[in-house]
Amino acid sequence: MPDTQPQSPGSRDEPGPAPPRDERGLSGIKALEHMARQVSAYNRSLIEASLDPLVTIGPDGTITDVNAATEQATGRPRQQLIGTDFADYFTEPDRARQGYQQVFREGAVRDYALEIRRSDGHITPVLYNAAVYRDEAGQVVGVFAAARDISERKRAERARQESETAFRLLADSVPQLVWMCRPDGLNIYFNQRWVEYTGLTLEECYGRGWDTPFHPEDKQPAWDAWNRAVATGGDYRIECRLRAADGCYRWFLIKGVPLRDSRGAILKWFGTCTDIDDLKRAEQEVRSLNTELEQRVSERTAAVQRQAALIAAINAAQSEFISSASGRISFDSVLEKLLRLTDSEYGFIDELLCTPDGQMVLSARAITNIAWNDASRKMYDQFINGTLNFTNLKSLYGAVMTSGKPVIANDAPNDPRRTGVPPGHPALRAFLGLPLISSAKEFVGVIGLANRPGGYGEEIITYLEPLVVACANLFAAIRSDDRRKKAERDLRLANEMLDLRVEERTRELAGANRALAASNADLEQFAYVASHDLQEPLRMISSYVELLAQRYQGHLDEKADKFIHYIVDGATRMQTLINDLLTFSRVTTRAKPFTLTSAEAALADVLTNLGRTIAEKEATVTHDPLPDVMADPSQFEQVLQNLIGNGLKFCQQKPRVHVRAERRGGEWVFAVRDNGIGIAPEHVGRLFVIFQRLHTRADYPGTGIGLAVCKKVVERHGGRIWVESQPGQGSTFFFTIPACGDTTP
Ligand code: ADP
Repeated sequence: MPDTQPQSPGSRDEPGPAPPRDERGLSGIKALEHMARQVSAYNRSLIEASLDPLVTIGPDGTITDVNAATEQATGRPRQQLIGTDFADYFTEPDRARQGYQQVFREGAVRDYALEIRRSDGHITPVLYNAAVYRDEAGQVVGVFAAARDISERKRAERARQESETAFRLLADSVPQLVWMCRPDGLNIYFNQRWVEYTGLTLEECYGRGWDTPFHPEDKQPAWDAWNRAVATGGDYRIECRLRAADGCYRWFLIKGVPLRDSRGAILKWFGTCTDIDDLKRAEQEVRSLNTELEQRVSERTAAVQRQAALIAAINAAQSEFISSASGRISFDSVLEKLLRLTDSEYGFIDELLCTPDGQMVLSARAITNIAWNDASRKMYDQFINGTLNFTNLKSLYGAVMTSGKPVIANDAPNDPRRTGVPPGHPALRAFLGLPLISSAKEFVGVIGLANRPGGYGEEIITYLEPLVVACANLFAAIRSDDRRKKAERDLRLANEMLDLRVEERTRELAGANRALAASNADLEQFAYVASHDLQEPLRMISSYVELLAQRYQGHLDEKADKFIHYIVDGATRMQTLINDLLTFSRVTTRAKPFTLTSAEAALADVLTNLGRTIAEKEATVTHDPLPDVMADPSQFEQVLQNLIGNGLKFCQQKPRVHVRAERRGGEWVFAVRDNGIGIAPEHVGRLFVIFQRLHTRADYPGTGIGLAVCKKVVERHGGRIWVESQPGQGSTFFFTIPACGDTTP
C-alpha cells in the first residue's frame, strides 16, 4: 500500500497521511510529524463535519476511508466498511462499480445516481460527485466520492409527478378543453379533449400557437382579453369560436385563472374552454325570435293603430252625418283621412249619378285643393259651386265607373286608360280607384287616390274596405234621406192640394148648405103655414062632415053612408097628418133653449100622456134611474114619447117597454127597449126618413113622421139615433145626448 494511502480505520486518532520518513534529525521530524498530525486532524474534522456521506476508494474498489455520514447511510461502522468493496453497499453494485471505474478512467463524475442500501434495508437515493486524487508525483492513488442524499428531492419529484398525473387525469376527464400556460402567455399544456377537438398536434399549439384554432374574427379580441387579464391579474374570460377538426366553428366560453405563489406572483394560468355553442345558438334563436316577436308586435300594434285610425275616420263621418240637421255631410274630412291613411298626395270622393238620358256621371263631393294656377283654380271653383262633374268613361276613374271594381294603376304615366291631367294639376304617378258600394249593393260613388309612394296594393284595398263601405252607406243614407225628404215634400204638396180642394169643397158645401138651409127654412115655413092654414078649412070640412053624418047617417042609401064615413076618416087622417107635420116643423120653428132637464120627470110626463094606451094594452113600462140632461124639455119629452109609443104600438102581445141610460164618455146613451115585432135589418136604415113606414095603416096606424121628428130633435141636441133589432125579437132604439158636467142619474 503506498504511503499516501489513507489511514486504516484503526488509526483514527492519527488521521491524515503519515509524514514522510526523513533522515534529517529527530526534532525536525517530530516537528514535521506534529504539523502533519495537525493537518490530518484538521482534514479529518472537515470530512466529519460534512453531512453528506464521503468515502475514499482505492484503485481496487475497496473503501479506504469513510465519514460518520457514510456510517449512518450504510448502517455500518467504519471498521466494517474500510477494506470492503465500495459496490457492496448499493442496490445496483455493478452500476456503483462502473461509477468509480469511470472516475478512475475519466478523472471525475458528476451527479452519478445510486441507491445506498442500509443494513436495515432502508434505501437512500444519492447523487455521487467523485474525483480522483493523486500523490505528489501526480499518480492517481484513489477516488474521493461525496454522496448527496436526494431522498427529499426524489419525494418532491414523485409528489409533483403524482400531482401532475392527477391533474392530467382530472383534466382529461372533464368535458371542457383544458389548458395551462406560463405567466408570459406561452402555452405549456392542453388536455386530450383540446387535441381531439381541434385536431391539432400539441406541438402546433404549444407556445404561441394556442390561437391557431380561433376564428379569425376572434383572435384579436382573445389576445386583447388575455393582455387585459395579464395586466390586471384578474380572470381571463372571453367567448370565442374555436375551429373543430372538421373545420366547423363552435362557440366556447374561455376562462383562465392565475395560480400564484406564496408571495402572490403568478406561476401559471389554468384555463378551460366550455362549449356554449348550443346555448349560444339557443340564445341567438331566442334573440332572433325576440326580434321577430318584437317586429310582429310592432307590426300588429301598427296594424291596430291603423285599424283604430280607420274606425275613428268611420265614426267621425257617421257621427257628422247623424248629428247634421240637414242629413248632409262634407266628405272633406273623410277624404283628408283617406289621404293620411294611405299616404296619398291627393284624391277625390265623387257621387255616381245618372243623367236623365242614362249617362253615368261622377259629381265631386270632396276633392283635394290642388289649385295653384288659374286652370286648376277654375276647376276647384267648379267643385265649390257643386258643378264639378266627370263623365269620361275611358279614363282611370271611368274604369271604376264601368266595372264597379277597384282599379290600380301604379305606372299611371304609361297606363293606356290614363287621360292626362288638366294644366296646373300635379302629375299622376300612381292611382287607386275604389267603387263606393253600399251594404245594400248600391253603387253610389267612386273614391280616387293618387301618388302613394311605392304605389297601391290589394292590402290597401282590403284595409280601406270598412271605411269605403261606411262611406258608401253614408251616400246611400243621404240619398234615401233625400228620397224621404222628397216623398215628404210631395206628400206635403199633395196635402196642401187636398186642403185646397177640401176648402173649395167646404166653400161649395157651405154655399149649398146655406141654399139648402134657406130652402129648408122656406119648406118648413111652407109646411108650417100649409099645415097651419090647412087646419082651418079642414076643421070646417070635419065639422060639416060630422054634421052630415049625424043628420043623414041612415037616411040616405048605404053608399052615401060609406062615402060619409070615408070623408070623416080622410079628414081625421088629414088632421093627424097636419098635426104631425106641424110637430115636425116645430122642431126648428118652436125650438126652445136647452135647460137642465130631468129625464125621469120627462118620462113621468110621457107615462101620464100614454096612460090610457098603457092601460088598454096592459103594457108595462119600466126604467132604470135616468140622468139630468141639457135639453129642450118638451122636445126631449117628445122623443121619449115617440119611442115608447112605437114600442107600445108595434107589438102583438102585452107590451113591455124598458127605458135606461148609460154614460159613455162625454155623452149619455138612452135606450128604449120593447118586446115588439122587431124590424128586419134591411129596413133599419130608412126608418128615420120622414113618411117612411114598414106597415100599412090597416096593420098599424101612423104617419111615418114620429122617428123623423126624433132624429131631428136628437141631432139638434148634438146626438145620434139608431136602432138594433131582429124581427120577432123586439127592438131597442138608442139615442145620445151630450152629457153636461158630472150630472149622474
Ligand atoms: P108611424 O109610427 O107613424 O108609422 P114612425 O116614424 O114612428 O111612424 O115609424 C116609422 C115606421 O117604423 C113605422 O111605421 C114602423 O113600421 C116602424 N117602427 C117604428 N117603431 C117601431 C117599433 N118599436 N117596432 C117595430 N117597428 C117600428
